[in-house]
Order: sequence, then C-alpha cells, then structure tokens
Amino acid sequence: MHGSMASLHSELEHSQEEVSKLQKELESARREALIDPLTGIYNRRGFEIQVQGMLADDASLGHGLCLLMVDIDHFKNINDTYGHLFGDRVIRTLANTLKSKVKGQDSVARLGGEEFAVLLPDTTLQGARSVAEHIRASIEKGKIRRPNSTSEQGGITVSIGIAIFHHGDTLEKWLDHADKALYISKQGGRNKVSVYAPAMAR
Ligand code: GH3
Ligand code: MG
Ligand code: MG
Repeated sequence: MHGSMASLHSELEHSQEEVSKLQKELESARREALIDPLTGIYNRRGFEIQVQGMLADDASLGHGLCLLMVDIDHFKNINDTYGHLFGDRVIRTLANTLKSKVKGQDSVARLGGEEFAVLLPDTTLQGARSVAEHIRASIEKGKIRRPNSTSEQGGITVSIGIAIFHHGDTLEKWLDHADKALYISKQGGRNKVSVYAPAMAR
C-alpha cells in the first residue's frame, strides 16, 4: 500500500513536470510566432497585437498614437549590387537603429521585406516627425560593413511616412494613410519624411 502510494506520487510529480514543460514550450512558440527571426523584433502579427493593445489604452491615445512606415530606398539595387547577405545585414542594422531611436512604450516591427513600422503612443505629429527625422538622418550617415570584408558601405537611406490614428479608423485605413505619406517621400526623391494629410487621398 505504502509502495503504491509512493509510486503514484512520483508519477504525479512526473506529469506535473511534463505539463509545466509543455506550458513553457507553448509560451515560447506563441512568442516566436510574433517575432521576426532575422531581426528579433515583432513581425506583422506581433505588430497587430501591439496595435490592439494601444488602441484599447486611453493613455496611448493621449497626445495621439502615431505610426511611422519606414522603407529602405532602392533595396533591390542594394541586394543586386552587394548580395543578399549584405541586404540581410542592412535589414538587421535598420531594426537596431529603430530600436535605439525609440523609448518606453514605443514599439518596432518588421511588416515584411524591407518595410518596418514604428508605433509611437501618446505622441504628437510633431514629436513623431522628430523621431522619424532622427531615424532618417542616422541611417543616412551610417556605414555598414560588407560580409567577408573590412570595407564599409555608406549611402543607404530610408523613406518614411507618418500617420496619426483617427478615432474610428480601421487599422487598414491607418496603414493606408502612412503608406500614402511614404509614397510622397519616395516621389519627392527618397531619403525623406512626410506626414499624411487628407489632400494625399487619391
Ligand atoms: P524603393 O526605393 O521604391 O523602395 O525601391 P526598392 O528596390 O527598395 O523596392 P522593391 O519593393 O522594388 O524591392 C524590395 C526588395 O527587397 C525586393 C526583394 O528581393 C528584397 N527583399 C525582401 N525581403 C528580403 C530579405 O529578407 N532579405 C533580403 N536580402 N532582401 C529582401
Ligand atoms: Mg524599398
Ligand atoms: Mg517596400
């Protein structure tokens, strides 16, 4: 009787360990599903979850909730000229620059390819413009080391579009506004920051 109780107890302990191991695995799988493996920042799914959280939080909306859409200029040329390995390095460098230029509740994500989003809660358009300008200038003056070489490559730039969230808008509409502003930056010669204005609606 005593022996079978002991073995039951040890079996129970064993299954508790199993459950807690599986819970940890599930947690990390969930987390990984939201993270971009190349850069370690949020992917599009992670971005959407961050947006949901911010839209549900009055403090985030306080001075305004701003979105920066950041896109590397002529990235296809960069890949074609220096190779994909270097292209990946440019993407990682941009992710690190974005992280270093934001603070606190701000959030950085890779939406896909060479396109990134920065969420700035409780931030005016003027504040967002200043953050965007710092990012643009920092990338412009930065140099990135070429793989298997000591030489560094400069001349890499980004274009940025900014849109503030308007009460009642969908995420699609907000993204579209930032995209229109980004398009204006590209049209204006790239390496530029533009803020969405209703007149940009076509
Ligand atoms: P623009 O200045 O108008 O933004 O031009 P662009 O060349 O940057 O834009 P385009 O959309 O024509 O090209 C994007 C390129 O990004 C094409 C694709 O091969 C490359 N790309 C997308 N994802 C990755 C990636 O993970 N690594 C690398 N190295 N390249 C990528
Ligand atoms: Mg591009
Ligand atoms: Mg693009």
